[in-house]
Amino acid sequence: MAREWEAVIGLEVHCQLKTGTKVWCGCSADYDNSDPNTHTCPICLGHPGALPKLNKKVVEYAIKAGLALNCKINKESKFDRKNYFYPDTPKNYQITQFDMPYAEYGHIDIKLNSGREKKIGVTRIHIEEDAGKSVHAGEESFINFNRASIPLIEIVSEPDISSSEEAYEYLNTLKTAIKYTGVSDVSMELGSLRCDANVSVRLKGEKTFGTRTETKNLNSFKAVAKAIDYEIARQIELIEAGGKVVQETRLWDEEAGVTRTMRSKEEAMDYRYFPEPDLVKLVISDEQLEGIRAEMPESKVEKIDRFIKEYSIPEYDATVLCSEVELADYFEVAAKGSGNSKMTANWIMTEVLRVLKDEQKGIEEFSISPEHIGKIVKLIEQGVISSKIAKDLFEKKLKDDRDPEEIVKEDGMSQVADTGVIENMVSEVLEKNPKLVEDYRNADDGRKPRVMKGLMGQVMKLSKGKANPQLVTDILIKKLSN
Ligand SMILES: [Zn+2]
Repeated sequence: MAREWEAVIGLEVHCQLKTGTKVWCGCSADYDNSDPNTHTCPICLGHPGALPKLNKKVVEYAIKAGLALNCKINKESKFDRKNYFYPDTPKNYQITQFDMPYAEYGHIDIKLNSGREKKIGVTRIHIEEDAGKSVHAGEESFINFNRASIPLIEIVSEPDISSSEEAYEYLNTLKTAIKYTGVSDVSMELGSLRCDANVSVRLKGEKTFGTRTETKNLNSFKAVAKAIDYEIARQIELIEAGGKVVQETRLWDEEAGVTRTMRSKEEAMDYRYFPEPDLVKLVISDEQLEGIRAEMPESKVEKIDRFIKEYSIPEYDATVLCSEVELADYFEVAAKGSGNSKMTANWIMTEVLRVLKDEQKGIEEFSISPEHIGKIVKLIEQGVISSKIAKDLFEKKLKDDRDPEEIVKEDGMSQVADTGVIENMVSEVLEKNPKLVEDYRNADDGRKPRVMKGLMGQVMKLSKGKANPQLVTDILIKKLSN
């Protein structure tokens, strides 16, 4: 019988804090949209004698992230030097936090597809600095120090994760929780979120851990999941064949779908950590911590609760709308102008999300503003347009910047609400369909609505969808009962 294996997974997540300026100096942290090496100074270039000064905002942002991940914020922590030579590390060491991180003992609650919930521990979070960027072009290599000393937090999970699905959900939940605090873009595409995965396997029921590997170069949550699945399978196969897993750092090759050895433990670096002599201990007072706690923006759970109460929408709608903080903001603006929150929620969840999915875009890139979605809903609410016309208007709006009210007026999209006009159309339809009329009069109460629907459809067709449906129904009933 095949032996049963289980995986033990821990994730290390690096997250850039969008403080605007770097962690030890006042240089701008906007490293991508500027010429190379323009956002540098003696401090972030590591010139001899230059002294680092801790950016206050970094502490505030890091604490917010720590609170969002349910961590205990330590009153005292310290900075250390992690020594290594790498071309894009100007000081030849990285300032980080080694044995006294600022946040510990957190957790993230994840929900899996099966509906099962699980608590994943967050061991610690520490503050550190980013490295510069090496750019390789043919025979030459260039170094851009704009990214050097941009503030990072490293979030280390407990080895509580046991599958790629759990890892994926952990990352998603972590990303959303931090995004809600506004302290980071947490975007893997932009490089403001990076993840390394520690994976080992052991026989089910065993208490000791197997030898683990660390996989780097993971460029998306999907890549994390794929690399984990690959590593689990590779390690089990290796052991089953009588081999041994080597403790090493591996790189994920997205194209080939495999992990490859980068460096083994024998080559592993000794970082010779020691306390950073140029920085004092980081002391966080109770007042400071409480002040930051009081300023924490609403969390996802709090927002869902508020949406249900404030907008009287179902929990399902609130959960979908709050899946991303930008989408939640979009809904709020749209709902406020629409006069009908539930209809606004429906429009966003169906039409807007459908277009975003088709175009593979985020809500922040969507071409229709929330104010205009609110106006489209308001036009339906006021009976100016039918929901069918609203869909045409929505399609038009995707490429048209004009105000929805203007489009309806200028392009003649408004509903026909003129009783006289509708009466004429109804008469025309009744004259053309004597069989249906007879059918209606002979039908029992159960069948009547269906025949009515057919006649209604004819009138709407004649009006090109513009007749006010309520008026059509009223007039049809009146005329048919004569
Ligand atoms: Zn600088």
